[in-house]
Amino acid sequence: MKVIRGKGVFGAVAIGKIAFYKRRDAKVTREKSENPDKEKLRFEKAKQAAVSQLDSLYEKALREVGEANASIFEIHKMMLEDEDYNESVMNIIESQQVNAEYAAAVTADNFAEMFSSMDDEYMKARAVDVRDISNRVIRCLNGDEEFSDNSNGEFIICSDDLTPSETVTLDKDKVLAFVTKYGSSSSHTAILARTMNIPAVIGAGEELDESLDGKIAAVDGFTGIVYIDPDAETLHMLTEKQEEARRKKELLQSLKGKDNVTLDGARIDIFANISGTGDIGAALVNDAGGIGLFRSEFLYLESEDYPDEQVQFSAYKKVLESMAGKKVVIRTMDIGADKQIGYFGLDKEDNPALGYRAIRICLTRQDVFKTQLRALMRASVYGRLAIMFPMITSLDEVKEIKSILEEVKKELKSEGLEYSDNVEIGIMIETPAAAVISDILAPEVDFFSVGTNDLIQYTLAVDRQNPKLERFCNTHHEAVLRLIKYAAKSAHKHGKWIGICGELGADTELTEQWLKMGVDELSVSPPFVLEVRSRVREIDLTQSRE
Ligand code: PEP
Ligand code: MG
Repeated sequence: MKVIRGKGVFGAVAIGKIAFYKRRDAKVTREKSENPDKEKLRFEKAKQAAVSQLDSLYEKALREVGEANASIFEIHKMMLEDEDYNESVMNIIESQQVNAEYAAAVTADNFAEMFSSMDDEYMKARAVDVRDISNRVIRCLNGDEEFSDNSNGEFIICSDDLTPSETVTLDKDKVLAFVTKYGSSSSHTAILARTMNIPAVIGAGEELDESLDGKIAAVDGFTGIVYIDPDAETLHMLTEKQEEARRKKELLQSLKGKDNVTLDGARIDIFANISGTGDIGAALVNDAGGIGLFRSEFLYLESEDYPDEQVQFSAYKKVLESMAGKKVVIRTMDIGADKQIGYFGLDKEDNPALGYRAIRICLTRQDVFKTQLRALMRASVYGRLAIMFPMITSLDEVKEIKSILEEVKKELKSEGLEYSDNVEIGIMIETPAAAVISDILAPEVDFFSVGTNDLIQYTLAVDRQNPKLERFCNTHHEAVLRLIKYAAKSAHKHGKWIGICGELGADTELTEQWLKMGVDELSVSPPFVLEVRSRVREIDLTQSRE
């Protein structure tokens, strides 16, 4: 038996045969061409074919894995239309008098190298995408069919890392687990595995190679260990774990419709985090009591230009109507840092996480901010809306936001447009500054929501994008817990509610602590709603009061 260690990104177990993903890299040879114009025309035609393939992939992904995951194909289309990319292909055809396939392949190499050398993890990851789109164009130039998965049986898919289009073309019913050599917790493979509820191990390293193709393996997504040719004892241990996970899943289904109440009667709301209207179904299916975080920046990330008031209004209205009177907390856009958008024209920064992001952009680009606030307020009549502001560090920011919101309300009123007077206004506690002055901020707002992902990064000085720092990132660090406890105390002292919408909200090792602190709401990814409910229902606070 061979043991390979990586990082588990979704806790589940799978046992089965390995299929090493055979990348269909397009074959390219350099050929001289006497007629560059003909090659340019071939490239244009292939590009059009690639765009129509991307449209179909988008539709398929939308049906299978939701809008947020499908949006990558819209990004691919944008990359194909990129001026620099096209110019480079045309220049190579013209100057070297070569075939279009070769020009596209060289351009892909150059752009991928440029992306890989960037410091920003998000931009680094675009190297895979530029190769992916170029391969697609080259396959179109070669007249190759689009890949379809015709294999029989179910497999553990192993690969270096999967591109978004590779993950979408895989037949999901046949995938038992994903194991990749590289990748980070936020890679497409990891996101997809979580959406599909199957085990995934990333960063398995060089030991994961093609020689493993066809071997039997057991993947433990809880520990991140992959056992190749597992012995009887290991198989027994993992089969039991698998059985336990299955029992747990069944049990969780039986919790639908039940209260989030402890044995001694303490209650907590469990809401869902969503990235767009495409995730509403998952929130409802998993019986979320509301939406605790709608990351509205995805509306901006999915657009080629600033989404206008009407587009935003429609999205917010849809969420509010679908949740039928349940609370919906919409966070104003959190752009910047790891969420860069070309049309915002943001400067390159040495430390983007400490830079121009979120509320800082909103307060200096009030035209963009006001458009979002107008859309939100107009949608407020369709349900129970709460608006939340990210990356707050000071009282002045909160006061300024409130005065801008008042201006927006005045404008709407003068235009005869309706809005609700019952919209709650809250802030995210995701900087140590906000937590430390939470007693001063609480009187100004209706609620707090703790963004533990950023609160951890800023408190422990650990870049959340850097996979090398995982061992230094103690998510249960006393400093983080004390800040949250203090924010909860401040909120309650002023009669306000407090929720947690970062990943720590779903960490069931901490559920009891949150209850003891008096946290009122936990907002988690939809698949974790029932798991957290289950944990809440087995806690007895009378047994464990501090
Ligand atoms: C957080 O920081 O915990 C949070 C919920 O916001 P995001 O992960 O979108 O930065
Ligand atoms: Mg955050």
